[in-house]
Amino acid sequence: VTAAAQTDIAVIGAGVVGLTIALRLAQTGREVMVIDPAAPGSGASYGNAGTIADYAVQPVGTPDVLRNLPSLLFDRNSPLAIRRAALPTLAPWLFRFARQSLPAAARRNAVALAGLLSDAAPRWRDLAVEIGGAEILQARGCVYMYERKASRMAAAADLAFRRSVGVNVELLSPTELVALEPTLPETEGGGAFFPGALFMTDPGRMVALLAAAVGRAGAAFLGGRVQSLVRAPYGVALFGPGVDMIARRVVIAAGAHSRDLARQAGDRVPLDTERGYHAEYDMKCPRLARPVCPTSRGFYLCPMDGRLRVAGTVELGGLTAMPSPHRIARLDEGARAIFPDLPAPSRTWMGFRPSLPDSLPVIGPSRGGSDVTLAFGHGHIGLTLAPITAELVLRALDGDSADTGHPAVIPDRF
Ligand SMILES: Cc1cc2nc3c(=O)[nH]c(=O)nc-3n(C[C@H](O)[C@H](O)[C@H](O)COP(=O)(O)OP(=O)(O)OC[C@H]3O[C@@H](n4cnc5c(N)ncnc54)[C@H](O)[C@@H]3O)c2cc1C
Repeated sequence: VTAAAQTDIAVIGAGVVGLTIALRLAQTGREVMVIDPAAPGSGASYGNAGTIADYAVQPVGTPDVLRNLPSLLFDRNSPLAIRRAALPTLAPWLFRFARQSLPAAARRNAVALAGLLSDAAPRWRDLAVEIGGAEILQARGCVYMYERKASRMAAAADLAFRRSVGVNVELLSPTELVALEPTLPETEGGGAFFPGALFMTDPGRMVALLAAAVGRAGAAFLGGRVQSLVRAPYGVALFGPGVDMIARRVVIAAGAHSRDLARQAGDRVPLDTERGYHAEYDMKCPRLARPVCPTSRGFYLCPMDGRLRVAGTVELGGLTAMPSPHRIARLDEGARAIFPDLPAPSRTWMGFRPSLPDSLPVIGPSRGGSDVTLAFGHGHIGLTLAPITAELVLRALDGDSADTGHPAVIPDRF
């Protein structure tokens, strides 16, 4: 294998995960090259709901979801839908997902998530200050809104569980909810308030600041797509459009696009994607002081700079199909059920969550050798977990064999 360029560490993918890893690596004095065919931070990291959701300890797969899976999947209007054309390809993932939704597995995954998430907010606070994004990060908490009394009752056990793993949550009566967010309609069920959670008023701008900090820390950027990854005696050779290089070590952080690269490194990781959408409504004052999630609708209403962003819902649909206009229409309709007087959406977006059946990422050395580190699969909480992920990757690269990472996220658990 011959290659034109060389680097010490190549980070594949310039989303929030790859960029945070690159920043921490460059700060330790290593030579780092970040490779991405697209502008840094233009994938899932751009269009999300912006919550630093340290309270999001429930995996996507739970006994409740499993019970309702058939109706959820085949109701085109449900917050969790599937593109029928993708069903045959998705079947193995869904089978694993169903197994991970059984009571014991779901509880184990939730406890593992709670462990990973416990320091997410302070880590982001430090990172935001460091990269000059402190004013984008707001500390006004996040809210779950229960439109019906039944949703509030159903949430009781969930909230008790969250408290048991250290999440700070306060129940709000219908009157307290409206006192906290006066523009919301009266509900029967009130809500839950997570006072410690943070949110970003512009995730795209935060990730742009992160990319600038990566550059200042001395890392280089290469515009190219890695298609093949081959181990050679003197490093790992990376090839593809715009890429021809040897790296001593490689970090795969290509989000939902990481499965094939990981396979070439020697890892069979059951990564798939949950497509998610947003619609934005430009307005000077975006109505809310903090993100509000009407839980039965599967999206967040997020006050962002100069716009209200409504972001979320899950569509199992693979990486290649076009966005579904039906999903966007449902999102817009759901937003209007809360705020009937919204203007037409100013823009819409679809992104690919990198999702594993147990809702936990893979972070750590490749089975094929520790010259490749995997760092992807963060699903619904990749923005939240980026700083924690970077710490775990640094530990893995420093090669302390007694401490190769967090047991819940090891790549060969499947
Ligand atoms: C609607 C929605 C709402 C969300 N809300 C939240 C939230 O409120 N809080 C939260 O924590 N998380 C949220 N998420 C999840 C979060 O956005 C993701 O988990 C996170 O952005 C994943 O980051 P990433 O860096 O792994 O992936 P990405 O941001 O997708 O970045 C991957 C990068 O890899 C590049 N790439 C792909 N293939 C290659 C290749 N072959 N070679 C080189 N580069 C490649 C891509 O171009 C891309 O830039 C949400 C997601 C969605 C879709």
